[in-house]
Amino acid sequence: MIAAPAAGRVLATLNEDGSRRWIRPKPATGKWLIRRRGVAYALIVLFLAIPHLRINGKPWILLDLPHREFTFFGTTFLPTDTLPLMLLFVSSLIGIFLLTALFGRVWCGWACPQTVWMEFIFRPIERLVEGGWNASRVLDRDHRHAAPRRLLKLAIYAVLAAILGNTFLAYFVGTDALRAWVVRSPVAHPTPFIVMAVTTLLVFLDFAWFREQTCLVACPYGRWQSALLDRQSVIVAYDTRRGEPRGHGAGERTGLGDCVDCRACVLTCPTGIDIRDGLQMECIHCTQCADACDDIMAKVGKPAGLIRYSSQAALAGQPPRILRPRTVLYPLAFTLAFGAFVLTLALRSPADVTLLGGLGAPFTRDPGGQVVNQVRIKVANRTRDDHAYTVALLDEAGARLIAPENPVRVGAGRTITTTVFVVEAADRFTAGERRVQFRLSDGAGFSRVYPWRLRGPDRVAP
Ligand code: SF4
Ligand code: SF4
Repeated sequence: MIAAPAAGRVLATLNEDGSRRWIRPKPATGKWLIRRRGVAYALIVLFLAIPHLRINGKPWILLDLPHREFTFFGTTFLPTDTLPLMLLFVSSLIGIFLLTALFGRVWCGWACPQTVWMEFIFRPIERLVEGGWNASRVLDRDHRHAAPRRLLKLAIYAVLAAILGNTFLAYFVGTDALRAWVVRSPVAHPTPFIVMAVTTLLVFLDFAWFREQTCLVACPYGRWQSALLDRQSVIVAYDTRRGEPRGHGAGERTGLGDCVDCRACVLTCPTGIDIRDGLQMECIHCTQCADACDDIMAKVGKPAGLIRYSSQAALAGQPPRILRPRTVLYPLAFTLAFGAFVLTLALRSPADVTLLGGLGAPFTRDPGGQVVNQVRIKVANRTRDDHAYTVALLDEAGARLIAPENPVRVGAGRTITTTVFVVEAADRFTAGERRVQFRLSDGAGFSRVYPWRLRGPDRVAP
């Protein structure tokens, strides 16, 4: 269940007059920050390293969109691999559903690149250059003194955006192509330059200007939350029963809960919300408010955990329930989809062969009057080794094969289209066609027969 926004507030990042309310979260140190920082820096290193890492000579991840070829950990999926790719996509989606049902928005708070780079790279640089979180808030009002520091910050951001943007592009074009793009003259190769410039600009705008709006208005995942969570899902939550009624003056308070209403949890929130309003779409479960509140609890002599990982059911005093519809159905669906993916992968043919007609006229005649069919044979080598595929025409009636390149050599994971010609006497066609078969074999276990219809003169056999 998602709580309604606080009265008078539409978005945490908008002032009442509709202008942008810049969020300058106060850093909160604590056990969760130490853990998140470790995870974040490991993920940043991994993100930067993955395009350079190879398995069997192939990148760990390469999403070659123009050729519709996707490589994951040494396995390349070709355009004809729609089924395994679809099953992989469905498995990932169900995996995300399951993860959210169990652990809430753990992805958003701990692993999403938006959070990781914003909170552990861009935001610390901002505080360093502008003189601390409070100095940043002062600079928001003092534009004259803000300019030099903010320009320096933006210059650093631009360099980081170029590194980040180009690394992102490397996942799509590969490091070799990207290196060539970077060293080429922009004038001679404007398209790659424009792609790199636009990517860098988008990354720059995201971290310098759009920031938490990406989570609040652009990313659909937060909006799925109400459908993906249940009352037993683990969330970062404020313990209302313990904290309320809130109030100042820890020492002399009577009849008050543990919340001293210091607003430390609000000041540290990177999306600008008050977690005490209940579970909200804007909450990315980053635990910063939990660290901030634990610090306050220590100062007022109360136990930590007023804001903590819990669930709506646990906070209402209900016992935990591991077995519930979504913790049974999601794993079941995941097992089925992922099992089918592994099966289709295991049963995949080592080569994918497609026969296509020639370009232009369906057939031609040679000087002797015989019918010539052009046939294009597309061979995709799915294996990790280079192979030579021999093309043979299986036709007892004596049609003749002319193959300028035979065998056809295809590198590991590559696709090649070769052209062959079939020559046949004109009187061997019935109703304008004749059935033949091609066999392709690589001498290493792959051998398949493919039927084909030759085109010829439209003459009915006697
Ligand atoms: S409410 Fe707490 S957990 Fe949620 S985004 Fe804000 S600081 Fe992070
Ligand atoms: S930090 Fe803790 S004590 Fe302070 S306002 Fe938030 S919940 Fe209350």
